[in-house]
Amino acid sequence: MSHFSIEFFPAKTDVGAEKLREVARRLGAVNPEFFSVTYGAGGSTRDRTLGAVRDVQALGYAVAPHLSCVGDSKAEIAELLDGYREMGIDRLVALRGDLPAEVTARSKELPYAADLVRYIREHSGDHFKIEVAAYPECHPQAASLADDVRNFVAKANAGANSAITQYFFNADSYFHFVDRVRATGCDIAIIPGIMPITNFKNLVRFSDACGAEVPRWIRQQIASYGNDSASIIAFGEEVITRLSQQLLDGGAPGLHFYSMNQAEPTLALWNNLGLPR
Ligand code: FAD
Repeated sequence: MSHFSIEFFPAKTDVGAEKLREVARRLGAVNPEFFSVTYGAGGSTRDRTLGAVRDVQALGYAVAPHLSCVGDSKAEIAELLDGYREMGIDRLVALRGDLPAEVTARSKELPYAADLVRYIREHSGDHFKIEVAAYPECHPQAASLADDVRNFVAKANAGANSAITQYFFNADSYFHFVDRVRATGCDIAIIPGIMPITNFKNLVRFSDACGAEVPRWIRQQIASYGNDSASIIAFGEEVITRLSQQLLDGGAPGLHFYSMNQAEPTLALWNNLGLPR
């Protein structure tokens, strides 16, 4: 069983939604195990996520909606779970999410992702296959890597079936994290999340916020290209192909691509790696 999946975020406009359907059609040609669709913490994209899930499902592909618990009540989550079940969805990505600092008056019924996983199992039994998040370079709010590993294993113990990692550019961080998880006796699949390098400015901004380290040698090389975006894309493709190959050679059970709603970068990596179609 190969675990090759692709992530989308819900579009903000009708034009974006149409573009996303086209991107899904193009990426669907490589036959990923599923597409996932992100969810704005506190329900900020509830309707748009649902719309994108419906659109991708209507094209005939398996979809795993993301669901985050911070700021959503159990009743709101139950409604989503029942709706997804009725639609024939059988896989979810269960997350805590991050609420903006100014949003404080929201539900705190399920403070951590492990609480969400437990609640999904309570409410829907074994209907859904549940993916959770993992952080090879340590989640930015964790007190230590040991704590983060313990909190990760708690999600597996609460009923998660497998995990997708935050993206990273250093294969050793992934292998080290997997070893530490295995040492606890936890054996769920941990799929590396792969971020193609396309827009460097956005990548750096996003990486700072989510705790992924962009190595100095990558920053330096890209800086040397200035505004030459074709060279940046070619270099990024080479770096990420090599990283992905190293992960697969080292035993990673699959890859999850953060497509950023673009077909080309993921297709290029898929082809370079000779992944199954
Ligand atoms: P948790 O597993 O709950 O962990 C959050 C932090 O709390 C960690 O530091 C952990 O060590 C700590 N912790 C856990 N349990 C405890 C405890 N009992 N006591 C003390 N500390 C504890 N965000 C979205 O809003 N929408 C999305 O669709 C989305 N998709 C994502 C997909 C992937 C594959 C990944 C990797 C991340 C995604 N995120 C998404 C981002 C994610 O919501 C944030 O990284 C968030 O800060 C943590 O979510 P989590 O599910 O890992 O939380």
